[in-house]
Amino acid sequence: MTLNINVSPYGGEITACAKYERADVSLPYFYLNRDAVMEPLLCDGKIVEAQIEIVRHPMQDEYLVARVLVPTFYNYMEVRYRLKLTGKTGSWPYVREQITPEFSLLRFETFCYPLFFDTWQDFRKAKFAQCDISVTVPEGFTAISTVSTDGAGILNCTIAPYQQAEFSFGQVYFLPTIAADSRQELEGIMQFAYDYMNAHFGHREFKPLTIATIPAGFGSFAITGSRTIFLEEGAFSKSENLGFAVHEFIHLDWNAKPKDSVQRSRFFDEAFTCYFENRIMRRILQDDSYRRNSAEKAIAAVKDGKYAKVPICKYGEMEYGDLSYTIGALCMEKLCSLLGEELFDAATAEFLRKHQETPADFEDFCGTYVEFCGKENEIRLRKFFGEWLYSCEWMEVE
Ligand SMILES: [Zn+2]
Repeated sequence: MTLNINVSPYGGEITACAKYERADVSLPYFYLNRDAVMEPLLCDGKIVEAQIEIVRHPMQDEYLVARVLVPTFYNYMEVRYRLKLTGKTGSWPYVREQITPEFSLLRFETFCYPLFFDTWQDFRKAKFAQCDISVTVPEGFTAISTVSTDGAGILNCTIAPYQQAEFSFGQVYFLPTIAADSRQELEGIMQFAYDYMNAHFGHREFKPLTIATIPAGFGSFAITGSRTIFLEEGAFSKSENLGFAVHEFIHLDWNAKPKDSVQRSRFFDEAFTCYFENRIMRRILQDDSYRRNSAEKAIAAVKDGKYAKVPICKYGEMEYGDLSYTIGALCMEKLCSLLGEELFDAATAEFLRKHQETPADFEDFCGTYVEFCGKENEIRLRKFFGEWLYSCEWMEVE
């Protein structure tokens, strides 16, 4: 499988060519952004008119996408298309990708390249990781592209007139709008975060990372396999916002692998990471109020009925993953108060070590702490997990 994308920032569009061998094709159709203008397909050297239907995508039912039938072929199929991204054809509400001279983002939620999946399960099995991808941009532009290998092998790519700078932890690609004097602060904060996490939650070998800045509203995210962080430029607007960089950095090295059954709860990535972020930023800023009100707001939202009152272990099935950022992180904080920092840190380091590769669920989580902390802590730990993970009892007293 190969994918070549040519980006024209001034023209506001991409032109792309994807080539598939028989074994690359896992569905009798693929999905592509509904605004794509397709050329006829080329199958085993024969020209075949593309059969296109505009349908609702099964993973996002309000979202209209082009479904293109894969014709019979034996050896290879070539797909060519042009696509103007208007910012109105992304599948998630927050996705508003456009191709502009200032910034462009290509990712799966915009269906800007052919995608062969219509369930989350197939999404996670997407074979994109084995794809040979090239992105071409005009002089003066840089493309930062990664293929995520955790979960789905899907492409993420940003294109901007980036200004590159070298830091002790790796390369940073700054949007020109980020003020020069705010850039340097990142060095000390990332250094502190690295040292702190190593000292408290398990040593990780230093591996350089890449940070590509993105405009406000696109949502920061990290891609573990390629050690790339896409960081909203708002992170540089004031010191406390650099917590976003710390947060994404922690995702790369200090997250347990969740079992599929609990992945959507976001507890094992977001509750842990937000907790670590809060602890580090409270130390750096010497301000214990950092992000305190986000948990308070979440609790108020549950009490006001914006969320059904369900225990943390049910966040996944209710699609309440966003509560893991706040209430999940608070649960980790309370667990730390219960055990004391030293024991909590050691047990947490042990849990992360054990489940770096072996997926964990809530049982594994509780089991590790109970086992690690010894008989003398067992009763109060089980009571704590019962109250915080398996019921909403904690909320009565909060
Ligand atoms: Zn996160």
